[in-house]
Amino acid sequence: MQGNPRFIMCNCTGECPGFKDMNFWRLLNYVRNELESEYAIIHPQLCVDDGDRFWEEILKPGPMYVVGGCDPRMQKKMFRTAFEKKGIDFDKQVIPLDLRSMSTEEALKKVKDAFEGLSKTK
Ligand code: SF4
Repeated sequence: MQGNPRFIMCNCTGECPGFKDMNFWRLLNYVRNELESEYAIIHPQLCVDDGDRFWEEILKPGPMYVVGGCDPRMQKKMFRTAFEKKGIDFDKQVIPLDLRSMSTEEALKKVKDAFEGLSKTK
C-alpha cells in the first residue's frame, strides 16, 4: 500500500538565510495534523552523504514525496544518485517545492496546495 504523500523538509543545516523566517516546527505540525500526509519530517541537509543514505533507506516504489527545500532543478540534480540507486523516478514520485525566502504562512500555503493537487490526482 502506498499510503498518503510523505513530507520531507530540508532546511540547509538550519543556518541558511533563505529559511530564516520560517518556523519549521509549525510547518511540520501543520502537515502532520491538517493535511492528508503519511508523515512529516525534517532533514538538515539532504544533498550530502547522510542525505543520500537517508534517501536510500526510505525510498520505495509507489508513494509520493513532497520535498520542501531549494530549487526543484537543484533538488533533482543533487538527489539523482540516491534515486538512481533505488530505481525510483524522481519526476514521477517527487513534488519538489522551493520554500526559500518564504514566511511560515507562505510555506504552509505552498505545501497545502501541493497536497491538494495530489489528492485530486488520486
Ligand atoms: S538539498 Fe537544497 S535545501 Fe537541502 S541542504 Fe541541499 S541545497 Fe539546501
